[in-house]
Amino acid sequence: MNKQFDVIVIGGGPGGYIAAIRAAQLGFNVACIDEWKNANGGPALGGTCTNVGCIPSKALLQSSEHFEQAGHHFADHGIEVKGLSLDMAKMVGRKDTVVKQNNDGVLYLFKKNKVTFFHGRGSFASSKDGLYDIKVAGTAEEVITGKHIIVATGSNARTLPGTPFDEEIILSNDGALRMLDVPKKLVLIGSGVIGLEMGSVWRRLGAEVTVLEGLPTFLGVVDQQIAKEAYKAFKSQGLKIELGVKVGEIKTNEAGGKKSVSVAYTNAKGEAQLLDVDKLIISIGRVANTIGLSAESAGLRLDERGAILVDADCKTNLPNVWAIGDVVRGPMLAHKAEEEGVAVAERIAGQHGHVNFNTIPWVIYTSPEIAWVGQTEEQLKAAGKAYRAGTFPFLANGRARAIGDTTGMVKMLADATTDEILGVHIVGPMASELIAECVVAMEFRASSEDIARICHAHPSLSEATKEAALAVDKRTLNF
Ligand SMILES: Cc1cc2nc3c(=O)[nH]c(=O)nc-3n(C[C@H](O)[C@H](O)[C@H](O)COP(=O)(O)OP(=O)(O)OC[C@H]3O[C@@H](n4cnc5c(N)ncnc54)[C@H](O)[C@@H]3O)c2cc1C
Repeated sequence: MNKQFDVIVIGGGPGGYIAAIRAAQLGFNVACIDEWKNANGGPALGGTCTNVGCIPSKALLQSSEHFEQAGHHFADHGIEVKGLSLDMAKMVGRKDTVVKQNNDGVLYLFKKNKVTFFHGRGSFASSKDGLYDIKVAGTAEEVITGKHIIVATGSNARTLPGTPFDEEIILSNDGALRMLDVPKKLVLIGSGVIGLEMGSVWRRLGAEVTVLEGLPTFLGVVDQQIAKEAYKAFKSQGLKIELGVKVGEIKTNEAGGKKSVSVAYTNAKGEAQLLDVDKLIISIGRVANTIGLSAESAGLRLDERGAILVDADCKTNLPNVWAIGDVVRGPMLAHKAEEEGVAVAERIAGQHGHVNFNTIPWVIYTSPEIAWVGQTEEQLKAAGKAYRAGTFPFLANGRARAIGDTTGMVKMLADATTDEILGVHIVGPMASELIAECVVAMEFRASSEDIARICHAHPSLSEATKEAALAVDKRTLNF
């Protein structure tokens, strides 16, 4: 007799494991299948986010930021550092420890919530009488049966045609987070969130980094006033960014036992260029992952990009089969995947789970950080929406001066008639934390005046948000 469950979740990333926990909290008998293996072949729950994404990248961003501060900025505080050196093995080891703490944390949560975990690949085997048989191929092979199936199989890094990742010289995010030596020269193709974060890590640690971007605009999805401010900051830090390039032939070379990679491209002026570097990181986006799921034979419909086709409620074309996170449409963000996981579990329980796509925050954890929620000025203009804008620079914020980081600003956009906040865009210190207040405000449909009238602690970076709100009404107090 097959093991039988109310809900089977395929994939244990932030979408899948959160869906499993929420479903268990709601009283369902839940299984979660995940195939990720750690270095010893054991389970490594948490998906891309925990193993090769959000968590390890933030660990290395933190370590590399400490190195940069000690090398270049401690002196401003009267702290002299002599003989500063880098122990890459230790830095990467610390990152691995942080990852493992998170992996083990999910296993603990499964035990706590009585979610049955299967380590292996899950695939659709058959369906009968409203029940799905799911094959689990792990160390052993078994079939489990479920009434509701939640597919949360995530995404994989996209590469350029004819340029497979070898994770030695041509790297995806995976290899980029495992380098044990700082490359002298590094090229990054793609200046999106992941590219800029990876570029920042390795530039801070001493690599000469060139970022090649095909689009003519830097961070086209970001409010352009904010993007321009960030561009200036990255340039002044020494990150070389070339926009509007067309990448040509990529060749790996070996001379005197040393491997390198050459990248031919045409720059924005149409001039042919060639860069010979130690490593190449390709970060041109990610593709939905349905490998090994037997989606096609099960009759699961995919869209033209290979993502599982779902409606607004994350329902697929198959009854009681749901899909969430990176494997479906929408922003590829861990917190979006989590929210969909919770909403689907609640819908299965007959509740009204809901994800508000208008208030999903975005963060780029570079220095300065970039964070935003809601619409950009460009989007409002394109939609013909009347708005008022207020900006406040961190230069005029007491806490930012005390910290010694006055780059950037907070920008608030509010409806010209109702004053409802339509978007907030931040580039500067701790933007990732500051954006939370703005998400709450927008979720409660606050006006800019609401934020302007709320008492904010002094001295704090959050006062810049209050001042940006005051700026919407042209009455800043400190600028
Ligand atoms: C370098 C990098 C940095 C990032 N930083 C951030 C960040 O700071 N903030 C943020 O919000 N997002 C970030 N992201 C994006 C984030 O990682 C993803 O949006 C998130 O992981 C998606 O969650 P998911 O659950 O949909 O899929 P995933 O996390 O990809 O998890 C899917 C899981 O399913 C498993 N799986 C797949 N197929 C099967 C199968 N057939 N059977 C069993 N198991 C299977 C996989 O092994 C994996 O464990 C980053 C991504 C990268 C690459």
